[in-house]
Amino acid sequence: MSSTHEEKSFRENVNLTFDIAASTLDIPEGLGYYIKGVNNVYQVRFPVKINGKVESFIGWRAVHSDHRLPAKGGIRFSSMVNQDEVEALAALMSYKCALVNVPFGGSKGGLVINPKDYDEEAMEKITRRFAFELIRKDYINPAINVPAPDMGTGAREMAWIASTYAAQKTGDVNHLGCVTGKPVSQGGIRGRTEATGRGVVFGLREFFRHPEDVKEAGLEGSLEGKRVIVQGLGNVGYHTAKILQEEDGAKIIGLIEWDGAITNPDGFDIEDVAEYKKNIGGLRGYPKGTFVDEGAKVLEQECDIIIPAAMEGVINARNATHIKAKLIAEAANGPVTFDGEMILREKGTVMIPDIYMNAGGVVVSYFEWIKNLSHIRFGRMTRRWEESQNDLLIQAIEKSGGKVPDSLKAKLRQGASELELVRSGLDDSMREAFQSMREFYWTNDKVHSYRIAAMALSIEKIATSYLEMGVYP
Ligand code: NAD
Repeated sequence: MSSTHEEKSFRENVNLTFDIAASTLDIPEGLGYYIKGVNNVYQVRFPVKINGKVESFIGWRAVHSDHRLPAKGGIRFSSMVNQDEVEALAALMSYKCALVNVPFGGSKGGLVINPKDYDEEAMEKITRRFAFELIRKDYINPAINVPAPDMGTGAREMAWIASTYAAQKTGDVNHLGCVTGKPVSQGGIRGRTEATGRGVVFGLREFFRHPEDVKEAGLEGSLEGKRVIVQGLGNVGYHTAKILQEEDGAKIIGLIEWDGAITNPDGFDIEDVAEYKKNIGGLRGYPKGTFVDEGAKVLEQECDIIIPAAMEGVINARNATHIKAKLIAEAANGPVTFDGEMILREKGTVMIPDIYMNAGGVVVSYFEWIKNLSHIRFGRMTRRWEESQNDLLIQAIEKSGGKVPDSLKAKLRQGASELELVRSGLDDSMREAFQSMREFYWTNDKVHSYRIAAMALSIEKIATSYLEMGVYP
């Protein structure tokens, strides 16, 4: 591979996939060109006084598409973030929302900052000031643009953003809908924190329900006992690994973090590793595994599934030939580069693309936004009614001579809680989207990967929306 292949930017990587996917469709050329580009980007610089000293910060919020409103997408805090990356991530959000039938446009934000360099008080000041600037220009607004957590941000930052919006826009009765991923006590929804990771697992379970697809990857059976390597033990990686280990019986044999990796052929107890990481800050020194200094090398280890859940570009032209996994589930955004994918496809490695695999976050963000606009918790009006109806049903069965086992009675009687409804809606969204993606893949001669299938389906939906709206021509 020449070095020029290595130098493609994140946005170029996304756009190359777009071009291939668009070429499999019959959409007007000019419309394809329009959909591909980012509609607008706002760059902001602002000062914050920290410990008596003025520091300047720079950030962006990009809107890739607004064929549906609000536009949706996370805010990333990272010292590496730049405009190209924010634009690429905004584009992925448009395609992701379209693929999983979430009626939002695509957006993304980023602030150049290493959150580890600041204490909580400083982080709150910086986050509120960044939010203030975005709110002023309607880049945060429940009807127009709604952020969520991404790398380096979480429920804490979302609560600060929501509070800044409420203070700035007094009288907006829908103020809580200005951001998703909030703590439950601040208008968040149960199941949002784990949503992206749980969505990854729901997606993988659906993949393993299709023997034809599993066979193509050179695998068989279910997730039980599969050897998995996870990169990034943050929000997405932690929940994915934990659920896979605890609920599906997968063996997490490798975990890669910023300071190195740990391996153990017998598999890790994820909760134990996460506790260690929380106390120490990294994985170095974890006693129940072998530590590898050059963490990324563990991606090249023998295993069944790799789940990159940290950052973009980690599987690329340099290391793709050495990857031994049969299946790569892209939990992060853009972890496999375009050139890396070409090499892996030659080898027969199957990749489940980011715009499908990590869509669980935005699916549950959609539920949270609906909850905020309707001002009521899901299940509040129906739960007890369902329970009394289920009770009547059990009584009717028993009165007519049937017997409901005691072990089943409590489960049968139970009405659905918010968390159960969220998980059910997430599972349904992930199953449906996988089925449409695989069907497009298996029935279209021009489509050679799930990624192209997913992207083509998304482009088709966005194009239809623009054509029906009459924006084009
Ligand atoms: P996070 O900040 O919670 O976690 C990222 C983890 O990666 C951290 O534990 C960090 O220490 C680790 N890391 C940093 N540098 C690393 C390196 N060089 N090698 C290995 N690990 C490293 O972020 P997150 O929210 O879990 O996001 C991870 C990825 O998932 C990103 O690509 C993000 O865009 C994507 N994503 C997140 C969500 C969400 O809901 N949070 C939704 C969709 C997609």
